[in-house]
Amino acid sequence: MHSISDNLKRIKENIEIAAERSGRSPSEITLIGVTKTIGIDRIAELLALGVGDLGENRVQELLAKYELLEETPRWHMIGHLQTNKVKFIVDKVKLIHSVDSIRLANEIDKQAKAKNMVSDILIEVNAGEEVTKFGARINDVYELIEKMMFLENITIKGLMTVAPYVENPEKNRIIFEKMVDLFVDIRNRFDDNKDMVFLSMGMTNDYQVAIEQGANMVRIGTGIFGGR
Ligand SMILES: *Cc1c(COP(=O)(O)O)cnc(C)c1O
Repeated sequence: MHSISDNLKRIKENIEIAAERSGRSPSEITLIGVTKTIGIDRIAELLALGVGDLGENRVQELLAKYELLEETPRWHMIGHLQTNKVKFIVDKVKLIHSVDSIRLANEIDKQAKAKNMVSDILIEVNAGEEVTKFGARINDVYELIEKMMFLENITIKGLMTVAPYVENPEKNRIIFEKMVDLFVDIRNRFDDNKDMVFLSMGMTNDYQVAIEQGANMVRIGTGIFGGR
């Protein structure tokens, strides 16, 4: 098994190559280390290596690690979020990636208002149109944004998707392409304030392809820490 430091080095090299292929600088790509199931010591090791953005997909695990870590990373909530749990994390995370309904957006807005803050969110899109997945359908994203735009205590910062697991990451290229088209179209239609800057897509198996297509946030767990 390779060390976290070796893995990170290789991932950074790959990010650099993919960013250059898409005509961008690697500094424009945010690497989020996904720490689900990973213990505090190894998370601290990753932070010490300079990865300051961490992702968790469960509220309870995020809260536990939030308490235990001495360092203060930028936490990203990347998994499905139940409305009744919003209040526990709204002031502890930098970005909620998984907003896929107006009901959830309303609750985040309400809890953010109660804490006198503005919560940054991404809209999760089920771009692969898998029946088992969370996320709004592409055609429903427009209406969601029209409704969310009026909420004063949230800012829509962009889009996120979880592509299917595939042996050959090339198979997901078309999904990432669809997401980029949607992202560009939505920014043209709605984003007068230029708030929508993040396109969160790409995981261990397919982040290079996602970046080549235009992702600027990738969420990587296994590639950094090894198998779960
Ligand atoms: C687990 C998870 C990841 C990271 O997956 P890896 O394949 O381990 O890189 C990224 N995004 C979400 C939403 C996840 O739940």
